[in-house]
Amino acid sequence: MRMRNMIVTICLPLCLFAQKKKPAVDPFGKNKSAAASEIQQHYDHYKDIALKIWDYAELGYKEEKSTALLQKELKDNGFEVQAGVAGIPTAFVATYGSGSPVIGILAEYDALPGITQEAVPERKEAVGKKAGQACGHHLFGAGSVAAGIAIKNQIQANGWKGTIKVYGCPAEEGGSGKVYMTREGLFNGVDVVLHWHPDDRNAVNLNGALANKSAKFRFYGLSAHAAMAPELGRSALDAVEAMDMMVNMMREHIPSDTRIHYVITSGGKAPNVVPDFAEVYYYVRHPDKVQVVNIFDRVVKAAEGAALGTGTTMKYEVIGGTHDLLLIDTLNVAAQKELERTGGVSLSPSELEFGRKIQSTFNYKAPDILASSKVNPYEVQTDPPGSTDVGDVSYNVPTVGLRIATWIPGTPAHSWQAVACGGTEIGTKGMIVAAKALSNLGIELLHNPKLIEAAKNEFTRKKGDYQYKALLGDRAPALNYRDGL
Ligand SMILES: [Zn+2]
Repeated sequence: MRMRNMIVTICLPLCLFAQKKKPAVDPFGKNKSAAASEIQQHYDHYKDIALKIWDYAELGYKEEKSTALLQKELKDNGFEVQAGVAGIPTAFVATYGSGSPVIGILAEYDALPGITQEAVPERKEAVGKKAGQACGHHLFGAGSVAAGIAIKNQIQANGWKGTIKVYGCPAEEGGSGKVYMTREGLFNGVDVVLHWHPDDRNAVNLNGALANKSAKFRFYGLSAHAAMAPELGRSALDAVEAMDMMVNMMREHIPSDTRIHYVITSGGKAPNVVPDFAEVYYYVRHPDKVQVVNIFDRVVKAAEGAALGTGTTMKYEVIGGTHDLLLIDTLNVAAQKELERTGGVSLSPSELEFGRKIQSTFNYKAPDILASSKVNPYEVQTDPPGSTDVGDVSYNVPTVGLRIATWIPGTPAHSWQAVACGGTEIGTKGMIVAAKALSNLGIELLHNPKLIEAAKNEFTRKKGDYQYKALLGDRAPALNYRDGL
């Protein structure tokens, strides 16, 4: 008896130790590794695609060359491509395989107007360009396509059941492209949607996104000579200024986590002519989509008041509207695991040198330059979120997203530094990390029905009785929202 007790006492901790040391068996680990090494083998090819799209730097709904390049790549690799979906010429859905599960991967490619930069670590505008990939969507597009192809090759090589769909999503920057694709039902029947976004760190997106509603407010007045007959004129620019002032006063009386910003997109042509037309473009954002709609309606009231007071008339056009992100913990935990399996980005001495120069241009303390070689722990980051039209997808299908270091740590999105990093191998190396992590996660989901079921249950529970309705209503895609830029 004593002897048996002794054996138990000695053996139990040893056995536990042995159990702890035993690595968890991943039955599809080999496939994940094969997909990752295939992506790595084609690094130069995917880099080439990404840098072409970086160079095209096409604006929302005008991404003809970018979309053609990505579609060709998918077609060449056996995907069936449906182009011009949801009434958007540059949107597409590329499909491979059959049956369930159906895994979607989002790809973006639009650039931002007014921010151009060469791929150098000091401020140098790109001559002859009007836009830049300041949000890294060229990497987002090429990286997602690479992941889709790698998953497809595993499906094909192993005779697996399941469908992979790569979604070509135009005009993320203010154009709400995915909202129309969602409204069109293009995500119906998809089990899980994967996405990622260029960033300055490697992490699962646990921060969510702000819901956003945007509109262009147009005021119509009367022209007159500004010195000889100003009493005959009614200034549309006055109306814009009055509206802006009212909205700025309103900031004190709305929830403090609201974000409102505007640019005056037309304010007259000459000081000696009373402007008969002026336009201001507004974004209203808040973590909660219901609040966004309420605050937006108050902004409309300010516009109406401004028109009344200045003797002008006003019309507004809703341009975009996106939901917040519905985060699915079960998928996020799985994504963290696959991201950790992939690891961070390793930069060469010359890339680090480039990075140090980039960091020296910040007017704040730069984080550790080697932070992008690691994967962040599973925790909510302290930086505030932006908005994304992935939000609308996330209210229709369980969705999971990664943030991958394609920019030197400390680089903000929509900066010249982001354009610069994105035009180098700092960006394309990060893109490859994203492609590998997404393909790992896709392969996992193809073989883990329990994970999909848990994600669906969580999605249903979190969505509650909320009925999805596009914040931009039933308008047609604002294909011309970047005209003249
Ligand atoms: Zn973006």
